[in-house]
Amino acid sequence: MKKALVLGAGGFIGHHLVSRLKREQYEVIGVDLVKPIYEDSLADQFIIGDLRNLDFVQQIIPSDLDELYQLAADMGGAGYVFSGSHDADIMSNSIQINVNVTKVAVEKEVKKIFYASSACMYPKYNQENPELVNCSESSAYPALPDSEYGWEKLFSERLYMSYHRNYGLEVRIGRFHNIYGPKGAWNNGKEKSPAALCRKIASAKPNDSIEIWGDGEQLRSFLFIDDCLDAVRLLMQSNYTSPINIGSEEMISINGLSRLIQTIAQKEVKHDYISGPIGVRARCSDNRLIEKYLNWTPQISLKEGMRILYNWIEAELNKNENTAKYEAKEKA
Ligand code: NAD
Repeated sequence: MKKALVLGAGGFIGHHLVSRLKREQYEVIGVDLVKPIYEDSLADQFIIGDLRNLDFVQQIIPSDLDELYQLAADMGGAGYVFSGSHDADIMSNSIQINVNVTKVAVEKEVKKIFYASSACMYPKYNQENPELVNCSESSAYPALPDSEYGWEKLFSERLYMSYHRNYGLEVRIGRFHNIYGPKGAWNNGKEKSPAALCRKIASAKPNDSIEIWGDGEQLRSFLFIDDCLDAVRLLMQSNYTSPINIGSEEMISINGLSRLIQTIAQKEVKHDYISGPIGVRARCSDNRLIEKYLNWTPQISLKEGMRILYNWIEAELNKNENTAKYEAKEKA
């Protein structure tokens, strides 16, 4: 039985990854500051603690580990990452985690390590004109990410690659582009646009207005969680050691995404455009490398994936409403 350690196992992608590795018969240890919110983890052991603490990292990385997945990061959606208010924490927390993890991974002779980078590391000058979007892996330099979060990801990619060159650490680096799906942040200020729009539309009455940041014409692509994990697992099984995109090439505007969700919800709402942190004008994965080296393409359409997410958020909202009603009745 192979042994895997998932850092960030209480978070959205880490939690799904633990379930996936258990289905593949791994022995799994999960680590996070918090346990998953929406259901219990399937990890054989779940350790709560702070990966910024070197002693803690030395305790939780065993010496007989086959695979380590490093997904822990201080992160959130545009409201958290692009507002500028959390830059110092985002950078220092995540850098500290990655410095500790790379050092101890070498000491404990971890056989293979996956690092979750982000499309936010791509230069903003290639994402200003929708006609000329370029997020091919080779376009990373000269570097000019549009957020400190992106700069940290770029720095940490380079850290993992340096450990590969100097200490032979077997690294695999995925550049995630907007991963979405159920059991992730949807109402705590760290949610991303797919979950935020589903929540707003599910809570709206027909013809209500929902708030959209900017003019809604900013373009993005979104990858469903199951497709993301297929790519991560294939990457781990491969010998590919450079950063590689894990995303979708199906670009859609935020207005378009809202319309898609309205179709799923069978409900029409109006858009109220307000100012807010919106990030680059257009971003889309370039999958030429991953198709070539891993023979991977996404299998789940945006419509199919968004239907799954919408149904989950609607059910969560109903649960919250029922709990509120129950609590009000208990008080009365
Ligand atoms: P998430 O916020 O749901 O999960 C991250 C987890 O890391 C959280 O549970 C958090 O508690 C944990 N964590 C943070 N600091 C910690 C610390 N000091 N010690 C222990 N645990 C700590 O995020 P996610 O969406 O699951 O993303 C996972 C990884 O993928 C992150 O590195 C993120 O930057 C990257 N990524 C995600 C996306 C996306 O669309 N979700 C896109 C690009 C990159």
